Amino acid sequence: MPPATGAVAYAAAADSPPAAGTVLLGRYELGGLLGRGASAKVYLARDLLTGRSVAIKSFPNPRAAGANAAGAGDRPVAIEREAGILRRLRHRHVVRLHEILATRKKVHFVLDLAAGGELFSLVDASGRMTEDLARHYFRQLVSAVRYCHARGVYHRDIKPENLLLDEAGALMVADFGLGAVATATDGSSLLRHTMCGTPAYVAPEILSRKGYEPAKVDIWSCGVVLFVLAAGYLPFNDASLVNMYRKIYAGRFRCPGWFSPALRDLLRRVLDPDPSARFDADGIVAHPWFRHGASDEELGRLMHGGGEQEEAWFGPAETKADEDDREPTAFDILSFSPGSDLSALFVGAGKERVFVGEPAAAVLARVEAAGRKGGYRVRKDGKRAGGGPVYVEDEEGGGGVVAKVSVFRLADAVSVVEVVKGDGADAALFWTELLEPAVKPPAVS
Ligand code: ADP
Ligand code: MG
Repeated sequence: MPPATGAVAYAAAADSPPAAGTVLLGRYELGGLLGRGASAKVYLARDLLTGRSVAIKSFPNPRAAGANAAGAGDRPVAIEREAGILRRLRHRHVVRLHEILATRKKVHFVLDLAAGGELFSLVDASGRMTEDLARHYFRQLVSAVRYCHARGVYHRDIKPENLLLDEAGALMVADFGLGAVATATDGSSLLRHTMCGTPAYVAPEILSRKGYEPAKVDIWSCGVVLFVLAAGYLPFNDASLVNMYRKIYAGRFRCPGWFSPALRDLLRRVLDPDPSARFDADGIVAHPWFRHGASDEELGRLMHGGGEQEEAWFGPAETKADEDDREPTAFDILSFSPGSDLSALFVGAGKERVFVGEPAAAVLARVEAAGRKGGYRVRKDGKRAGGGPVYVEDEEGGGGVVAKVSVFRLADAVSVVEVVKGDGADAALFWTELLEPAVKPPAVS
């Protein structure tokens, strides 16, 4: 493995909480908070050496004492992976990593400042932009994505919050925190199984858990972004998350009346639920809507990173990405969209949802077996044929419900299992010891 955090500088002093005015390692003076995501906080900062403004993305240092608490186990891998990815990317429309600083409690990425804020600040009062403007930014996005894909890097979380603007108003793709790298030698590792992304932007093949090509998943998300920019609303949406996934799975969306025929045609090919038929980046670039109004020369320049030269190559491909292939759950999707109000629908207190690539009956049979093994009474409610709910009840303890399990069918072999856990220690134990292993689908190879 290459030393993913190459030129890391260590400081002895703790720096938490970072108050504005704090100077990091004698060099970067911290300003206000620019934004926060699932994994990190991003601050404005001034480089005291050059006077230049930068963005500093600060993660809790996963190696700090006490950082081994829940979920921190794979953080070092995640931060190193993000660093490794950013280091190999030099493109006009990809946020650039300048330096990594580590203190005892934090790891800081020093990044290009996206002084123009989020791309979505440019939509008008009706929440959209003209087709021409949407094309302008979509070109920049596709240019960045195509560049990444050509280098075996996949973003896997393309969505509005991660598309920023520099001071000149050019698009910058940010946040490779969920990115993946293809290992150069092993083509099969291109098929990934990790559940990634944000519900409304997630490609259908991710839902079916059959493994997916990360490049096609990025293309799908680009299509959703393009639709949202030009329409002012999501192509796949529903008050019910299950219904939303059904629409995604079927690739069922309708374009608003003002979309041009060429844009509709492009979107059909990008938001194609069949990944093998879906356009790749080159397919998009060749499409008339994409090329409209630009000369070959202009497009060529754009596609080559705005004419910028590729600089140093930062060592061999990282092979860490495979460690990300832990058992995915529906929670994985939502834990990356803390701002989404869908998450309340999805994982409420004591509620779990898991995607399975199996018919309901198979899952419910395992649930029943788990209930009996735990010494509980299992009662089926015939209300919804095949899908449960199944109640697991504690007869001795007065008939209290330990778990209620329902299965919703999304598509042929894709279901969502919803588990409402009972209160109390017994119910919690039953979930972790017996029920969770029973509802989680068998591991994908
Ligand atoms: P996370 O990995 O936790 O999602 P992000 O890298 O997406 O973190 O950053 C979180 C937010 O911080 C972004 O949505 C954006 O608003 C802001 N941000 C991130 N990078 C920059 C940057 N280079 N310049 C300005 N703001 C940024
Ligand atoms: Mg983010």
